[in-house]
Amino acid sequence: MDHWIESEQKLYMPVARRQPIVITRGQGTRVWDQNNIEYLDFTAGWAVNNLGHCPPVMVQAIQEQAATLMQTSNQFYTIPQLQLAELLIDNSCLDKIFLCNSGAEANEGAIKLARKYGKMHLNGAYEIITTENSFHGRTLTTTAATGNTHYQENFLPMTPGFTHVPFNDFSAIESAVSDQTCAVFLEPLQGEGGVNVPSATYLQDVRRFCQEKGILFILDEVQTGMGRLGTLFGYQYYNAEPDVMTLAKGLGGGVPIGAFLCKDFCDVLRPGDHGSTFGGNALTCAAAHAVVQYTIDHEVPQHARETGDLLKGKLNAVKARHETAIKEIRGTGMLLAVEFHEEIGAAVVAGCNEARVLLNPVRPNLIRFMPPLTLSIVELDEGVARFERGLISALSSSSNSN
Ligand SMILES: *Cc1c(COP(=O)(O)O)cnc(C)c1O
Repeated sequence: MDHWIESEQKLYMPVARRQPIVITRGQGTRVWDQNNIEYLDFTAGWAVNNLGHCPPVMVQAIQEQAATLMQTSNQFYTIPQLQLAELLIDNSCLDKIFLCNSGAEANEGAIKLARKYGKMHLNGAYEIITTENSFHGRTLTTTAATGNTHYQENFLPMTPGFTHVPFNDFSAIESAVSDQTCAVFLEPLQGEGGVNVPSATYLQDVRRFCQEKGILFILDEVQTGMGRLGTLFGYQYYNAEPDVMTLAKGLGGGVPIGAFLCKDFCDVLRPGDHGSTFGGNALTCAAAHAVVQYTIDHEVPQHARETGDLLKGKLNAVKARHETAIKEIRGTGMLLAVEFHEEIGAAVVAGCNEARVLLNPVRPNLIRFMPPLTLSIVELDEGVARFERGLISALSSSSNSN
């Protein structure tokens, strides 16, 4: 066994199920392992490396900022943070921003904001309606928000105040709301839950309902934001403006950064309510600013929409050749999934490692495709061909072992 993989077993708390590959270098959609074997990376750091690995605009921004100023704390103003804030606010429906370091932290902040809003404007209402199969992060409170008891059962009791309803079921939200409800909190499209796509009107219905009730409509765009669905933000794809939105993953293109944003009417947090030592530090803000500016200037979301449609078409052609194995291709933009009839996700991913395309086994019967948004047509064709080779080898080894 590779000595790097051996030392992991000595050193790490064993919480991750890793593929047996040590990635040492990346460029664009490709990465190389310790033996200099090249792979097409269709996981993109879990929907993070939107411009691919080590894009020159980011490398340059990080190098320059690292040599200028990295971290000051929020006791002072810094320019990269202001520039990033301005860019995100100018290009979204939101008015105010708080910068942090991860998706879970962004969601924690949004939850605190909603509770304070309830305290100030809704007679102390504090309950938040979220959905089953959602994913909002790994802190205790975002675990409580996450509608999946697997993530919760070892850590009870959970933070109170979350009600879970089925996703894409508007009437379930109507029935769950009470005078204790301060917000509805959803992913536009569920990513970790299995790339679950809502109906075209679901988010619009929820938004209208929240407006009627005077409660906050919060979108967790940690995975769907920054172009992944083929629009800069997922709410634009579904035409349903949130009151509060959270971002992370693709926002930094590979550096750890998150944010939550809100409209002016619910801008309720005040000095002492919230903070973060590293949040908004100059280094990650300069990197994120470079990513977001490039994404907007080069119409990366538009490219993601077109390339995502092509990718979906090619995956459907693979499905047509393997109907007995593949049940469905689903998803939007560059967030796609292949669902199998049986629980062969891990075996297919192992086959695909051998065929040199990296994929994510998001559920036992489901693998997720989330390549860099800058994926080229050549890489797309090569990636799908490698996927089909990996699939065929996984299917033939499972039929051999039967
Ligand atoms: C990944 C993810 C999170 C958690 O983000 P972290 O940076 O891992 O804390 C939250 N919400 C959604 C929708 C995600 O996909």
